[in-house]
Amino acid sequence: MESFLEELACEGRYLPRYVVEELRRFLPCGLLSEGFARVQCRTCGDELLVAFSCKGRAFCPSCCARRMSDTAAHLVDRVLPEAPYRQWVLSYPYPVKLALARDGKAASQSCKILVSEIFRLHRRRAKKAGHRGAQPGAVSFTQRFGSKLNGHLHHHLVVPDAVFEEGEECGARRVDLPPPTRDELARVLARVVRRTMEMLRSRGLLEEEVDLDDALSLVQAEALQSTCGRAARVRPLRRFAVDQDGFSLEAGTHLHPNDRPGLEHLCRYGLRPPFAQHRLTWLGDGRINLELRRPTPDGVQAVAFTPRQFLTRLSAIVPPPRVHLTGYHGVFAGRARLRRALRPPAKIEEAPGEDPPRQKDVQRERRLPWAELLERVFHEDVMVCDKCGGRRRVIAIVADPKQARETLAELGVAFEPLVVRKARGPPVQLDLTAPGPLDGLHPVYPD
Ligand SMILES: [Zn+2]
Ligand SMILES: [Zn+2]
Repeated sequence: MESFLEELACEGRYLPRYVVEELRRFLPCGLLSEGFARVQCRTCGDELLVAFSCKGRAFCPSCCARRMSDTAAHLVDRVLPEAPYRQWVLSYPYPVKLALARDGKAASQSCKILVSEIFRLHRRRAKKAGHRGAQPGAVSFTQRFGSKLNGHLHHHLVVPDAVFEEGEECGARRVDLPPPTRDELARVLARVVRRTMEMLRSRGLLEEEVDLDDALSLVQAEALQSTCGRAARVRPLRRFAVDQDGFSLEAGTHLHPNDRPGLEHLCRYGLRPPFAQHRLTWLGDGRINLELRRPTPDGVQAVAFTPRQFLTRLSAIVPPPRVHLTGYHGVFAGRARLRRALRPPAKIEEAPGEDPPRQKDVQRERRLPWAELLERVFHEDVMVCDKCGGRRRVIAIVADPKQARETLAELGVAFEPLVVRKARGPPVQLDLTAPGPLDGLHPVYPD
């Protein structure tokens, strides 16, 4: 990684700080040698060491997988009411994809355009059926990658084939709608194409030349290019898929109202991480092999990357800060009046009832605030003893890598320390003390 960053630096290019931080923060994720919490069962005294996680949202396989499970469960348990659901997927032609990958605001705008056009369709059809004022809802997932880790920004939406209106006693009534026709899909797409292009033009994103001194543009262009070498496949005409000007809209996947497991699966699919750790292996020649979840139509089962290509792909898919990848729209929006009434009936669950650890029990460490550390180790599964079922509590936090390694040695726990290798490559003059993407060769913790 340091070689990759230095190579770019030699060429006079710098990745934005948020990209470098995401890469660096990932390195110590889950490593006991970099710090941990000591967690002990109150009943049987059994002790556990829990490593910190990076909480990365771009590509860390374990952090992204945890977020996927949590969010999908939250959606199914707390947000999405019983209704027939349909998945809508919109993908873009190359220049649009590139513009959206580079501009986080434009990417969320383009998602809102799609949502508003689907809502327009739903409202119009509801009105025709005599339900004026009924409201649609949707949850959107923006994915910035394709299955080969290629830059492929597209939107997945989970939308009820239904609208909702206020019922008696602050309840909500569901009005089911028929599946969209192909003509309706084509009309939705035509408006989406027109409005998206207008939006990009008004933001000055289409005329812009790719600035080759800007490392992010370069890695994004490289990551996108990988998919453009081949001629486009001719898709069979499908009932729920339409294309226009390189944009394509699909809405073929739909679920029965009581298919809750299917709904959770659909949400997990929209939230899935770019790759799973177990699909990556080192090849003998130093390349990194990514086994695909499913072979491509032309039979490709795996892709091999040089380290530079691999890091290029990862850098290109890091979302800009403060850009939301999951969106709640219409009746599912946080402040929507109907959202409460629509909440699925609560499951009976035992509250975890976790007491906050008492301050005096805790050996406080420098640098990271307590709350941040707790957030990085807490997950419910860790707080219940697997020996006796009793509750566990945090008895100490060790956040300093040096001290962590000493404590591990004392406890006789085997560990593999994180080694950040210095950059290989041509000698260059780098001022490592200057602030910038290359500051410090050690993992960066968020302050
Ligand atoms: Zn126990
Ligand atoms: Zn992580």
